[in-house]
Amino acid sequence: MQNDPLKNAESQLRAVASVLELSEKEIKALLRIDKLVKGELSVKMDNGKTKKFKAWRSQHNNAKGPYKGGIRFHPNVTESEVKALSLWMSWKCALAGIPFGGGKGGVIVNPKSLSRRELERLSRAYAKMIYPYIGESKDVPAPDVNTDGAVMAWILDEYEKITKRNEPGAITGKPISLGGSKGRLEATGLGGFFTLNSLVKAMKMKNPTLAVQGVGNVGSFFCRFAYEAGYKIVAVSDSKNMVWNEKGVDIPKALDWKLLNGSFEGFNGGKLFPADSIVGSAADIFVPAALENAIDRDNMGELKAKCILELANGPCTPEAEENLNKKGVVIVPDILANAGGVVVSYFEWAQNISGFYWEEKTIKERLKEIMAKAFDGAWNEWTEIKKIKKDNIPFRMGAYAIAVRRVLEAMRMRGRC
Ligand code: GLU
Repeated sequence: MQNDPLKNAESQLRAVASVLELSEKEIKALLRIDKLVKGELSVKMDNGKTKKFKAWRSQHNNAKGPYKGGIRFHPNVTESEVKALSLWMSWKCALAGIPFGGGKGGVIVNPKSLSRRELERLSRAYAKMIYPYIGESKDVPAPDVNTDGAVMAWILDEYEKITKRNEPGAITGKPISLGGSKGRLEATGLGGFFTLNSLVKAMKMKNPTLAVQGVGNVGSFFCRFAYEAGYKIVAVSDSKNMVWNEKGVDIPKALDWKLLNGSFEGFNGGKLFPADSIVGSAADIFVPAALENAIDRDNMGELKAKCILELANGPCTPEAEENLNKKGVVIVPDILANAGGVVVSYFEWAQNISGFYWEEKTIKERLKEIMAKAFDGAWNEWTEIKKIKKDNIPFRMGAYAIAVRRVLEAMRMRGRC
């Protein structure tokens, strides 16, 4: 069960609980999922037949504010994964200092196998399942793996049709024409780039090379920002291939190629290798930006990088982290590295609620400030804990200590534990 996300989330919480000396009662309260909405979506396919899709929305904890978190459409979604992701959202929001709890949704589906109309019907069916539980002051969904502004627009439209009100703050990651925020699309990648800069500074690295796994929304924007800033990205991969170029991959060219051809197949700006080989590629910083469990017991020995920047959620299993930490690899945890998305979701929600919209410049400045503050806070906390415990615990514990303490404090104030 090394790759069961919920077990991994629990073991991460237990590790920080021992640092913070929490009681079993407190740990249980922190692990409790407030509500799990689940069902089967019936969707009419273009051929007239009806197909069923399993779907979930997990609401972990709302002590600090409405539940917040994305919805993913993926064939490998499981209940355990959705629950784990909702826990991680609680810690992520608390660490960033934004007024939300944690939630997450998922549907077992390969959206690439659906037509546009089928995707719309699936999104609307999902909205019908979760509408009583969401809203700007209840639970605010957003995009995640394989979902985007179009899916958010259908979900919002269905929700507003059913509830007969206009409530743009019920969903974030919307198209700008429906009240979406400037800068939300690229926010996770940009936030990851700001965190990269903080890491390089903290580690006093000189011209580090990067290997980026995954070129979906997060990975591709991250690559563009890092490339434009002059970082050398020696490897980049999608689900099939890795492009390797010692001199640095020309990112705009590689991404354009992928966009036009659907894969890196035939791209001549580097050597092609199987996608999996990216973990062992010779780069200083490895950036997993795809799915969880990218680095586990089976491939942790291959890693050559000195640092990992977790842009995906849960890409390193606790076992891999323990092993790599002993070797001195610094892992910037997901709840810190990929928080840019939910931070700009917060800006979007705040703009919707106030009805006052901000310029892109303001959004980027505020995002930069929040990301830098979160990194510095976690880094200082980590340094302190290492001093007190006289032990080389992972960087994740610095971030978790701050986040979990904040959630616990809010729960105590409410008399919930
Ligand atoms: N899905 C993103 C995450 O995992 C964004 C969530 C949001 O904006 O609510 O952080």
